Amino acid sequence: MNNRIYRKIKGFRDIFGDEIYYWHIVEDKFKKIFSLYGYEEVKLPVIERVEVFKKGLGDTSDIVDKEMFSFIDKDNKTVVLRPEGTASVARFYIENGLFNDNKVDKFYYYGPMFRRENPQKGRFRQFYQVGVEAIGSSSALLDSEVIKLFSDFFDSFNTKLDIRLEINSIGCQMCRQSYIVALSDYLKEESNNLCENCNNKLQSNPLRVLDCKNIRCRDALENAPKIDKFLCGECKNHFQKVKDYLNRFNINFLVNLKLVRGLDYYMRTAFEMITDHFGPALAIGAGGRYDGLIKQLGGPDVPGIGFAIGIDRLVTLLKEVKEISGELKFFIAYQNSNQIDSVICLLKELRENYLNTITDFDGKNLKNQLKMANKYSVDYVIILGDDEIKGQYVTIKNMKNGEQYKFSRENVAIVIKNKFINGGVNCFQ
Ligand SMILES: [Zn+2]
Ligand SMILES: [Zn+2]
Repeated sequence: MNNRIYRKIKGFRDIFGDEIYYWHIVEDKFKKIFSLYGYEEVKLPVIERVEVFKKGLGDTSDIVDKEMFSFIDKDNKTVVLRPEGTASVARFYIENGLFNDNKVDKFYYYGPMFRRENPQKGRFRQFYQVGVEAIGSSSALLDSEVIKLFSDFFDSFNTKLDIRLEINSIGCQMCRQSYIVALSDYLKEESNNLCENCNNKLQSNPLRVLDCKNIRCRDALENAPKIDKFLCGECKNHFQKVKDYLNRFNINFLVNLKLVRGLDYYMRTAFEMITDHFGPALAIGAGGRYDGLIKQLGGPDVPGIGFAIGIDRLVTLLKEVKEISGELKFFIAYQNSNQIDSVICLLKELRENYLNTITDFDGKNLKNQLKMANKYSVDYVIILGDDEIKGQYVTIKNMKNGEQYKFSRENVAIVIKNKFINGGVNCFQ
């Protein structure tokens, strides 16, 4: 026998067991809610040409700078495992000529993203995001609808998640420039009080200094110039409209003037769902308007807005605040192998009624089958013994509390459903 055990690559993980229930709940929620707002799924490749992200995200972003999984393929072209979804959607939108249809195109995507960050607690090099992109309108009404959808998704879990919605306007290419000049001047004065990372950012991407989590840096930023004073008339007007619409949608939000986005393509509206659960002010979802992106990637000048949500973090949060149980599981235990026809018949009947049911394949004795049912952590064992078969009934044992029931064999699937499922499952809503 070969003794070698293969282990997964550093920063990657297997997701399985109870945690999967939470993933399924999250996946069901976004499919349902995103389609209410007219979004259709697009399944995109996980590998793209490096240029899609270099052009889309900008060379100075952390992602392009040091976090991409990139390699040279056999045709000597550099490909990357996608680090995010928006640039890919923009590539897809342009490549398929969707800008010719004169409507707002709404897409959502879901799947793994890859970043070669230093693995740390709760961060993985393969992580999952779901995101939406609405391309084709620069209206503030669209901004507020996208933020409403973002907020609806988090609300749908019917549980107190201890999160808050923050929004800001980061201006357009014009007015942001004068803000960056003022901010850089201020940061240069403070450079002795800023961490090394911020000092590097000061040169390449001064806006990013604003979201440094370092306490000394935060103190040093206390009196930094604020972007709202620098917004041009149009940007100011746009931001005001977004806030007005959000109020009309009855959405609670905070304006955070230090909220910026790390990627070059964002402009005007930026928003994040923040939690203090993993440490101070971490985003579990974020989005913004990116009117220049499609053009930057070689398409026409079409505006767009979207967001992405980190599913790994959301699941962690849900697991800690909300107990859920998955769907009930049943196990059919039988006494004699010559009863297998009755077992097959009952299995079929239960599964046709959407009851999750398993059984033993190897003809173990009844006692060992019950032990096995425990290992599968089923909720109920349905016993088909000699007496049961002769008397045309089944015995059902609740594996959690040991209670037993006897039901007539006729229509037993319906009876089980009514007794144990309807009103019995404690799930989200
Ligand atoms: Zn502006
Ligand atoms: Zn810093």
